[in-house]
Amino acid sequence: MSEDITVFEKILKKWLPANVVYEDSQVMAFTDINPVAPTHVLVIPKKKVGSFMDLKELSDADVGVFFKSVAVVAEKIGLSKDGYRVVLNCGEHGQQSVNYMHAHIIGGRQLKWPPG
Ligand code: AMP
Repeated sequence: MSEDITVFEKILKKWLPANVVYEDSQVMAFTDINPVAPTHVLVIPKKKVGSFMDLKELSDADVGVFFKSVAVVAEKIGLSKDGYRVVLNCGEHGQQSVNYMHAHIIGGRQLKWPPG
C-alpha cells in the first residue's frame, strides 16, 4: 500500500488498460487482473478514498452512490439471479494491496464460507 499514484488511478486516467464493464460520472468497474472466480469485478469511486476505513472522508451521498453502484454493476454483469459476494479488504490484516478503496464483486460459482 505504498505507491503514491495507485494502479487504479492509472486505470481511471486511462494510463493503463483495463476491461471496463461499467462507468458513469461517479464510479468505474473493471475486471480483476487476477480473478479468484469466473466473474471478478472491482468497483471504485471516482472520488478517491484510500480504504473503507477512511469512508468518513466521503459524503453520505457519495457513500450511498458507491454502494448502490456495486449492486447495479453486479446486476449488469449477470450475477443477481444466483448471487455473489462483495468484499472490501481493509488495511494490512484485511490484505488490502491497493491503497484506493474498491469493492470486489465475486461470483459465477458456488462460493465457500468462511474465507481464509
Ligand atoms: P486488494 O487486495 O483488496 O487491495 O485487491 C486489489 C486487487 O486489484 C487484486 O485482486 C488485484 O488482482 C487487482 N489488480 C491489481 N492490478 C490490477 C490491474 N492493473 N487491473 C485489474 N486489477 C488489478
